[in-house]
Parts: sequence; structure tokens; C-alpha cells
Amino acid sequence: MTPLRFRPLLKRIRWGGTRLGRVLGKPIGSESDYAESWELCDHGTDQSVVEGGFWDGWTLRQLMATHVRDLCGTERRLHQFPLLVKFLDASDRLSVQVHPNDVQARCFDPRENGKTEAWVILDARPDSRIYAGLKRGVDAFRLQRHLAAGTVEECLHSYPVRAGDCVFIPAGTVHAIGEGILLAEVQQSSDLTFRLHDWGRLGADGQPRPLHIEESLACIDFNRGPVDPVVPRRLNLVSEELVSCEFFTLRRHTLREALHLTNDGRFHVLLVLGGCGSLTCDGTEQPLQTGSTLLLPATCPRVLVEPRGDLILLDAFLGPVLEEQNNGQDQRELSTSRL
Ligand SMILES: [Zn+2]
Repeated sequence: MTPLRFRPLLKRIRWGGTRLGRVLGKPIGSESDYAESWELCDHGTDQSVVEGGFWDGWTLRQLMATHVRDLCGTERRLHQFPLLVKFLDASDRLSVQVHPNDVQARCFDPRENGKTEAWVILDARPDSRIYAGLKRGVDAFRLQRHLAAGTVEECLHSYPVRAGDCVFIPAGTVHAIGEGILLAEVQQSSDLTFRLHDWGRLGADGQPRPLHIEESLACIDFNRGPVDPVVPRRLNLVSEELVSCEFFTLRRHTLREALHLTNDGRFHVLLVLGGCGSLTCDGTEQPLQTGSTLLLPATCPRVLVEPRGDLILLDAFLGPVLEEQNNGQDQRELSTSRL
């Protein structure tokens, strides 16, 4: 199976903007509230559909049902594509929220998953802030007191961010994305969000949007504390590891020269975070530009990525299963070659 490209699913929410179109080339219309572009998803009726090539028109669910080994390899038994990948444009602040872990999620809906997520910032205003985790010493009692008083912001750990920063939000972490931020998000396939606080705003109907205080308090990990941006771990000249957790691994490749991606028996989701170039597999060349997303199936032959200028790729995949993690070996072979 060669690299797959999917049609983006655009979501309009009132905190959205126009950068999904202006910066990332997504097919937005004339409105100004394009909030999320779901690049890859297999979640209920939200289904990514292949665009072009042999599998044109197939949904990700159909591919998972009939070609799961080609797509995801033999390492794990999967019934649903495990990652949901989005771009998100926050021209206004998002609500303060928390997501359940797998066990908690299934209490709310047996078909749902927990939601651990990670963000890589693509663009931010100088005053844009991320809210991630509770300040040290904030327990359930203190949080509830501030919720009642409308002063919950005092409990939140927050800081300015800029392009390139990555923030890892395990399930149970209180968080909010501040205004002015454009980011890429990789998360478990889940749509369970509990809203803790909405900054006192009113919804489109003039009413406050519903809050889920009880559910939020049940899901918050009060031991987490403040969550700072990740410190990338340099792997070699072009690659760094941003996140490695049981749900996904995120690496960032900054290319100035051609790079071969060798098959490692797993799928890889590639998102272009900056720059442009091309990707060639099996004699077929596909353009890459900022905002492009490609899924390299587990059976994908070797791929050649050629940057034009600098090209920044985010590479999301499932790390080795636990037994393999123990022997400390990384199967991924990454080689650069000069043309
Ligand atoms: Zn979230």
C-alpha cells in the first residue's frame, strides 16, 4: 500500500478563524470560524475519506475493516485507527477542559477511548498562552473554591508559547488553548471532553455553554501539577523525539536534504509543519506543502522525501509494543542520502 492522502474534515466552531485556509491551504469557505481540520480520523460518523489514487473514496473505517494489516502492521490488533490528527486555529480562547483516561472514558461510553493529546505550535501571537496543568498545591477542594468564585484562572499553570513548542497533555490534565494559536494536534481517537470553565462567555444562543464540573473533577489527575513544554530529545542531525508514550510517538524531522524513510512495519502519519517539497514512493511523486498530511501504511515501500528549502515534518506513529520496549531497540531505520 502506497502513501494515502485524505480529504480534510473542517469543523466550524465560534472560536475558529481563517488560518486553516490562509496558512495551511485547507478548502475553507467565506466564513471566519474554521476551528479544526480533522486530517485523519476513524471516529463514529467522522471518517476520513481517501483522496486520489487506487483507494480514492474509501473511508478509513473501510480500510481498517478490510486491510488492517496492510495499514497498521501485525504488531498490534486494532479495530479502529488509533490516532486522531487535527490542525486547530484558535482565534479565541478555548474552554478550560479535561479528558478522561481509557478506563474513565468507558464508564461514560463503552465505545469511547481516553484522550491523551499533544500539540505542536505552528503559529502564535506574542501574547498567546497555553494553560496546562494545575499550579503546584492545587487540590480538589481549592479548585472547587475557585470554580465557585469564578477565579479558576488563578489555579492554572500557563505560559506564552511560540512556533515549534510542543506540549504533551496526558488524559486527566486540565488545559486550555489560548487565543491566537495555530497548532497541530495528535491524540487518541476520542471525542470526550469535559468543560470545567468557559471564561464567563455566552454561546451562540446567548446562553452559557454547559459545564461538566462533576465529570471534570472525577477525571482530573490532581497529582499532575504544572505541565511545561516538552524538551525535545535529539536523535540525529535531522530528527528529534518530542513525545513517546503508550499511545503514540511523535518525532520531528527538519530536512534540508533528501531523506529516505525505510519501512519499519508500522504506519506513520506525516504532517508538514513548515516548508514544501515532494514525496516519492513506487514511482509516484506527491507534492508536500505546509498543512499536507499523508498516511504511510505499514506495508508502504521505501519513501523518498525531497525538501525545497527547509521542510519540517511531524511523524506520528505507535511505538513498539511493551515487550519490545524492554530490550531498548528501536526498529526504525532512518537514513539520509545526498542526491
Ligand atoms: Zn483537549
